[in-house]
Amino acid sequence: MKTMTIVEWQNLGEKLYGNNVDDWEFKCPMCGKVSKVSDFQKYESKGATPSSAYQECIGRYEGKGTPKNQDGKGCNWTAYGLFGIPNDNKVVLKDDDGKTFTTIFPFSKEE
Ligand SMILES: [Zn+2]
Repeated sequence: MKTMTIVEWQNLGEKLYGNNVDDWEFKCPMCGKVSKVSDFQKYESKGATPSSAYQECIGRYEGKGTPKNQDGKGCNWTAYGLFGIPNDNKVVLKDDDGKTFTTIFPFSKEE
């Protein structure tokens, strides 16, 4: 598990992908599917938001089901779901006051 502040996370995202958040990529910790923020735009009518990229596997919008171990094809996992994310692949964001925690998917390029 990795813990960072929102500012640290934004700085890391800019370092890895540049200033355009649409270009940022996240990796589903369950199936290994990598999706760009902009990939979710076409699923807006199904309820996707800009936050979906770091909290939902794009497979949710493509009719995919339970994750198969790292097949990279998409699944129905979410960071906020009942089962959450396995500790090894989890990124936890905290506000600068250290109080509010959000669990998210890791960047695709993150170690
Ligand atoms: Zn997935």
